[in-house]
Amino acid sequence: MGDDPETAERKMRFLFALRQRGVTDPRVLEAMERIDRGEFVRGHFEDRAYDDTPLPIPCGQTISQPSVVGLMTQALEVGPRDKVLEIGTGSGYQAAVLSLLCRRVYTIDRHRRLVAEAETLFRDLGLPNITPLVADGSRGLPEQAPFDRIMVTAAAEDPPGPLLAQLKIGGIMVVPVGQSDAVQTLIRVRRGEDGFEYDELRQVRFVPLVEGLGQT
Ligand code: SAH
Repeated sequence: MGDDPETAERKMRFLFALRQRGVTDPRVLEAMERIDRGEFVRGHFEDRAYDDTPLPIPCGQTISQPSVVGLMTQALEVGPRDKVLEIGTGSGYQAAVLSLLCRRVYTIDRHRRLVAEAETLFRDLGLPNITPLVADGSRGLPEQAPFDRIMVTAAAEDPPGPLLAQLKIGGIMVVPVGQSDAVQTLIRVRRGEDGFEYDELRQVRFVPLVEGLGQT
């Protein structure tokens, strides 16, 4: 079904804003054109779904700013055969974008409600290669490790040890680090034969990575 002219225009602006903010990888842009952010934003924030801004989602969490989703996805250098782990399912938007670029996405959240809603969306949108799970993501997912790529979408003080351990040699992890109530630094970790290499990408602001399961 086609969009009404206003929505079509908003979607054009959305892609333009991504390019302007440095999302240049054509595969990432194509994935973000295909996954409609409007499906992942509910209630009275719906009409801001195509703005380049984070928005509230249930359980006091946020769907990330689209340009940050694009830049993080780009920094992860995902390939079509990769097995990817995402910590922080939230709305499911980031996982959906990743799912078009790789073989399988495991995505974990500590809130059951968010995982259940994302699972329904993935099914309705026909995205069969995403496995959403309720768990404490700071421990990773040992039963499916190692991973080619790991993306963390909640801020930790340091990259969690179990996640570093579950990254393949040659693998890449993108993670915001720093105090939860301050500006954090997005870092990219590459695992080589002889250890880990870190580079700082930009300043970001994410909700904190919290240990244990949520109440809902
Ligand atoms: N990637 C999401 C946005 C994530 S918001 C999107 O595309 O919409 C950060 C998410 O991390 C929240 O949903 C929060 O519940 C989750 N989170 C925080 N600590 C966690 C932990 N230890 N394990 C799993 N999920 C966690």
